[in-house]
Amino acid sequence: MTAREHLRIFRRGAEYSLRVNRKYTVLLMANAVLSSVTGYVPIYFSARVIDALIAGAPVRTVLFYAALTVGIVFAANLLCTYLACEKEAARKGVWRNEEWSYSEKAMGMAYESMEDPEVDRLRYRIRRESQIGQNLFLFYQHIERLTCQAARIAASLALTASFFTLPSVPLGLKLAIGAGVAAAMLLQTLATQKINGLDRDFNASSVEINILFEHFDDYIAHYGAGKDVRLYGMGGFLRDFLLSADREYWERDLKVSCRKALWTLPAAVLNIGLKFGVYAVLLYAAMRGGVTAGSIAKYVTCVMLLAEALVRMTETLQEALDNNHYLKRYFSYFDIPNRMYQGSLTVEKRDDNEYEVEFRNVSFRYPGTKVYALKDVSLKFQVGERLAIVGMNGSGKTTFIKLLCRLYDPTEGEILLNGVNIQKYDYDEYMSIFSVVFQDFSLFALKLGEVVAAGREFEEARVRECLEKANFGQRLAALPKGVHTYLYKSYDPEGVEISGGEGQKIALARALYKDAPFILLDEPTAALDPVSEYEVYSNFNRISGEKTAVYISHRLASCRFCDRIAVFHRGRIIQQGSHEELLADRAGKYCELWNAQAQYYITS
Ligand code: ADP
Repeated sequence: MTAREHLRIFRRGAEYSLRVNRKYTVLLMANAVLSSVTGYVPIYFSARVIDALIAGAPVRTVLFYAALTVGIVFAANLLCTYLACEKEAARKGVWRNEEWSYSEKAMGMAYESMEDPEVDRLRYRIRRESQIGQNLFLFYQHIERLTCQAARIAASLALTASFFTLPSVPLGLKLAIGAGVAAAMLLQTLATQKINGLDRDFNASSVEINILFEHFDDYIAHYGAGKDVRLYGMGGFLRDFLLSADREYWERDLKVSCRKALWTLPAAVLNIGLKFGVYAVLLYAAMRGGVTAGSIAKYVTCVMLLAEALVRMTETLQEALDNNHYLKRYFSYFDIPNRMYQGSLTVEKRDDNEYEVEFRNVSFRYPGTKVYALKDVSLKFQVGERLAIVGMNGSGKTTFIKLLCRLYDPTEGEILLNGVNIQKYDYDEYMSIFSVVFQDFSLFALKLGEVVAAGREFEEARVRECLEKANFGQRLAALPKGVHTYLYKSYDPEGVEISGGEGQKIALARALYKDAPFILLDEPTAALDPVSEYEVYSNFNRISGEKTAVYISHRLASCRFCDRIAVFHRGRIIQQGSHEELLADRAGKYCELWNAQAQYYITS
């Protein structure tokens, strides 16, 4: 990293801290200055007391100095304690902001980035680094330590400036002290550089294992995993696997710690030697006279403190430079752009819902893959049309829906809404015309009404109507608090656990409540029992009303009610037409799939 880049990252850290966590940052620095400078008050006044006593000054004067010391230190300590309490309270806010910034980023990030394994790895890595106190948290520590050290250096210099002008100490000795301090600073820089390098290498080589441990924790915490672990007797296997990974991690950690300790040693020895040197020089000055006993006491402490602060400052600066690598990675995650938000056109709100969508020669590859999930897909569908998409697993059906609702942008070709490329529309506006139910829907532990309305406010009657349309009516009637019942027990112990099929019905109701002109259903009945599935099909026209519906299913029988069926195979559309037309083509894929399924139903 160049010096300019270091400076840029440090400045960004400082600006971020002052903008997002201003109170904490200011308290941190104020407390650091005050607590550092307070330590010098007794040193200064002790020198005055010693000199006063030797000069035979009246007791009154001595008592005055003593009272002043106690008074100032007492008041400063009181203020420090208060600042420390405030600082601690503000620190909790820093954690909250940190957690919130991750959630905010995840919510505002393009779906494409969220699914990108590299982004996932980056997120794991910086979260882990935050947890072990690197990046932003270490940055605060550095700010605190640098402020402390700067205050100590200023106070020490103020109290020792006269030492460097003492005629009784030869220039050579003064220079020797300066050279000693410089050598200690240099050695400390080298040691810190080596230690940080060892830490960085260790952290970089531990990313995979930390991700593994985190996944394991998530797996164990998820109660569904308990069944698998017991039924497949995985306990012993998991334990052995993790124990050996854990042992390997700690053995490497121990080796790195030993090497770090070896680097600390020479700097520590030189520091002790330096202190003895300063002491010897001052003793020599005292014996030669020309310096008061009080001043000797003051110089001994302050010169040592000055040397110590300079060495520590070097160390902290070195650590701060090293932490810039972590901070850079930290900010790089939050800088991931969201390309989805580039468009600005408003989507025309049409009462007649006259929308036309066209896929024009669309091809798509998932990030980081070489194989096309969709290849040269061209398809048009109009308002009110019911389009079914069928095909075997992996043929590209879900990908087609993901592109349609802009979770990804096509690699080649374009998708048009009323003749305009969908990338030109404002993202939120465009999304507002789709209601989607994916197979892997997720519902949050909120009140049923809030889940269906996807918001705090909901119209009870409409929520009920949508749930009934989605065939959830009977279950709703049995819920203790109706639409005010909480889903799951994570928030409310009186909440209800729901089955996969019931969840799918609620997800369908949520799509209906949104009341968008397009309804996209990706295997909306996969988790339903045959009776519920039949009811959804047979009521589908009533459920979707005038809306344009795109319906994905691998069960062909459920697509017969659609006006048009597109058959996907290996990412391409290989057939299109009504059920009867497609069936008439005896050599076609549709007919093959249909016969295979019909056979299955007859034999079972
Ligand atoms: P279908 O819905 O027809 O079962 P998909 O559209 O889900 O098929 O998948 C089409 C192809 O894209 C498959 O080969 C699948 O492995 C691949 N695929 C799906 N999602 C991803 C992803 N997030 N990253 C990489 N490849 C993916």
